[in-house]
Amino acid sequence: MKVYKALTIAGSDSGGGAGIQADLKTFQELGAFGMSVVTAVTAQNTLGVQGVYPIPIAGITEQIAAIGDDLGTDALKTGMLFSSEVIDAVSEKIDHYGWHNVVVDPVMVAKGGAKLLQDEAIRALIEKLIPLATVITPNIPEAELLTNRDINTLEERKEAAKSIYNMGAKTVVIKGGHGNGQEVVDLFYDGEVFEKMVSPRIETRHTHGTGCTFSAAISAELAKGKEIREAVMTGKQFIRAAIEKQLGIGKGHGPTNHWA
Ligand code: PLP
Repeated sequence: MKVYKALTIAGSDSGGGAGIQADLKTFQELGAFGMSVVTAVTAQNTLGVQGVYPIPIAGITEQIAAIGDDLGTDALKTGMLFSSEVIDAVSEKIDHYGWHNVVVDPVMVAKGGAKLLQDEAIRALIEKLIPLATVITPNIPEAELLTNRDINTLEERKEAAKSIYNMGAKTVVIKGGHGNGQEVVDLFYDGEVFEKMVSPRIETRHTHGTGCTFSAAISAELAKGKEIREAVMTGKQFIRAAIEKQLGIGKGHGPTNHWA
């Protein structure tokens, strides 16, 4: 049996809806063997983030080395990295092990408002990590912060995608979930063509961890050897179904349903 390996380098969500927990569940459902490097522990539930406890840099690089020196991986994703020091260390290790199929979810702020990335770390993201990205999946607020401009129209979104592409990412997917309107429009750009991925908006408050789940699904598909565009399309289908089949648990913004 061929085993496809996928690694997540991200934060832990005690509530199980986002972060490492969402990633591993998604890997499992899509048939990839999941591995994890925990960058920070959050005390979190559907009501929000109550605490953030970053793991020391040595603890992060040792976890990566433990995987790199033994198991290796077919694809990886990054989620919550928290500081520029973590971004520097993680980028260096990805480069050291020559890992390909790198999906960067530029996690910055949780839906409840908690900061998951320090402000000054955006520069490190642009300079160190984005050049290693096979796919980067910012939402609109993240794309605005990365490009330092407002995005209101589709034209502005295309300009932002181009500018993130020019930072070195091979493929840019700007997610439309944070917009408004009846439809969610995600914009895919690979340096050649723009493609609008349109789906009806599902009205629900249970969208905690959607970004994590989407980027994890893309990584699992890349680990299985899928082409980038196909991996992104499957990721989109997976997250759509996960939102639709909501579990309705917790008193606040509940998790999506990772059971395929
Ligand atoms: N907590 C952790 C540890 C995460 O990695 C993420 C990812 O974006 C979130 C929370 C965000 O959750 P939400 O979808 O509620 O913004």
